[in-house]
Amino acid sequence: MEGNIFEEMLGIESLFLNREVLHHGFTPERLPHRDQEIQALVCNLVDALHGHIPSNMVLYGAPGSGKTAVTRFVCQQLGTKGDELGRKVTTIEINCQSADTKYRVLENLGNGLKGISEAPIPFTGWPADKVLTCVRERMDAIGGVHVIVLDEVDHLVRRSGDDILYTLANLNTDLRNARCCLIGISNDLSFTDELDPRVTSRLGQEDLVFTPYNASQLEVILTERATAGIKADVLGGGVVSLCAALAAKEHGDARRALDLLRLAVHKAEQEAVEQVDVSHVRKAQSQLEFDQITPVIASLPLHSKFVLFSILTNESNGLRNLPTGLVYQVYEMACSNASENCLTGRSISTLISALDTLGLITAQTISKGRYGRSKQINSCIPKTVDPIDVMIGAEPTMIDVAAATYRLQGRLRT
Ligand code: ADP
Ligand code: MG
Repeated sequence: MEGNIFEEMLGIESLFLNREVLHHGFTPERLPHRDQEIQALVCNLVDALHGHIPSNMVLYGAPGSGKTAVTRFVCQQLGTKGDELGRKVTTIEINCQSADTKYRVLENLGNGLKGISEAPIPFTGWPADKVLTCVRERMDAIGGVHVIVLDEVDHLVRRSGDDILYTLANLNTDLRNARCCLIGISNDLSFTDELDPRVTSRLGQEDLVFTPYNASQLEVILTERATAGIKADVLGGGVVSLCAALAAKEHGDARRALDLLRLAVHKAEQEAVEQVDVSHVRKAQSQLEFDQITPVIASLPLHSKFVLFSILTNESNGLRNLPTGLVYQVYEMACSNASENCLTGRSISTLISALDTLGLITAQTISKGRYGRSKQINSCIPKTVDPIDVMIGAEPTMIDVAAATYRLQGRLRT
């Protein structure tokens, strides 16, 4: 190969005006179709500008429904208005996906409130009480109203319990010169079910549910971002609407819509063509599905892999709507081919439910009248992924399992 290997790629002119704008970390200036949610937050948080304590809130909604973007936008406007009016309003956002212990949340909070001359709270090592005292002192030193946003709070509670929420919800009792309120953001609608009632009553004073976007709403959102981020005339007919339609099927996920569009443009760039068409969107979709689902399949526990294998083997013999019994039969054989002891039928039912939750299969319970109830199990893995191949790649035991012949299947085929 002649010349520098980057030469050819460098020479290709980008189709983006600003790739950042299509990234999901970017907060746009306008958020179409979220007026009601913005208004609800504003109605509550305006109290902070009057020096009162706003209610604590929990925002719910599927991933990509705009919870983080809306909250950031409102908090940023609140800060600007506070400065303008000379009111002390501090907003602090903590992502509980990374800060998922009580210590880490308090440490993030304390360091977020740190004055220039104050020492940072260390990553670990202090007693939790000392960190809490430090947080309180820093809040009082700044004064005014502090709005604490706990994004992905469901993750924190699942990981570390609700003790930290109780602590934060009670901060106002010990603050002398400041006030605070909490905004929890959760992807999981049922997250407050797991909380101690004392926490629920303090935290969920106001609930706000973000409904999923439909295709036409996503189209508006994408068009605005595309105008700012992609060169004019680059997007061929139907590109934006296809991205919107595909993402609408994925619980109206705006993040997915943006990823599809960004990746589709990238695919066109890689092919060195000047226009993006629907084939690029399809390729982007395949890649996203592949990237999303492969690690999920690869990291399944061993017996879940056996169960999934059993479902796929039954299906490759033309069977659909499998009852649990049939899944169990092939699962037993798979265990024996792997020289592993079988789990009980009840454990298998739990693994089947877990595969359903992960979106790899659907397991519907149907009523058979007086014969009780039964399951109808079907796989729903996109065609772009070869799940057995992925399982073999991740788990050597699966080589023996996949290579064996399954007697029952032979019989079923005839
Ligand atoms: P969530 O926090 O609910 O998972 P986000 O707020 O992170 O979702 O939104 C995902 C992506 O979609 C972000 O890039 C965000 O900017 C964008 N987005 C969501 N809703 C809108 C909207 N109404 N208008 C413009 N962009 C939006
Ligand atoms: Mg979010």
